Amino acid sequence: SNDYRVVTFGSGGVGKSSLVLRFIKGTFPTNYIPTIEDTYRQVITCNKNICTLQVTDTTGSHQFPAMQRLSITKGHAFILVYSVCSRQSLEELKPIWQLIKEIKAENLSSIPVMLVGNKIDESAELREVSHIEGQAQAAEWGVQFMETSAKTNHNVTELFQELLNMEKNR
Ligand code: GDP
Ligand code: MG
Repeated sequence: SNDYRVVTFGSGGVGKSSLVLRFIKGTFPTNYIPTIEDTYRQVITCNKNICTLQVTDTTGSHQFPAMQRLSITKGHAFILVYSVCSRQSLEELKPIWQLIKEIKAENLSSIPVMLVGNKIDESAELREVSHIEGQAQAAEWGVQFMETSAKTNHNVTELFQELLNMEKNR
């Protein structure tokens, strides 16, 4: 089918829902609404065809393990989000990455994955993970890297555009 399924992962509070809503609806939600799992669909053009971009916003590490596995199995591309203000949130992506590696082992190199450091609008004193450290982690995993702010809309369109480009080129 022409469905392109993108799945977000990351600890609670890193800004997964905010990034998705910023991209899909163009707004930054002002009240925090934890989700179990929401899926948004957007019709886009890819490779000159009409495709449905399906973005699944998960609760990340607090998802039930069976649901996590299913999301990975069904996903075509992954956004792994941490907050640049929380080293812990970067640490918590490691088991998710292990699981993606395990489940997608056969064609891992063709799976678009973006490591995303969100909340770069926050003040420098609050930063716990530098740009260089984020980049190094992405390089170690062999995935792409980007820093974003759902709040100021920095690199949000670029994030989804880059995932679509990675899909085209695989
Ligand atoms: P999720 O649990 O990963 O889905 O995170 P949410 O999208 O619900 O966001 C958690 C909290 O972080 C909310 O209070 C958001 O307003 C805030 N937040 C999300 N993205 C950003 C960002 O880019 N910058 C700042 N400063 N706050 C953000
Ligand atoms: Mg959420």
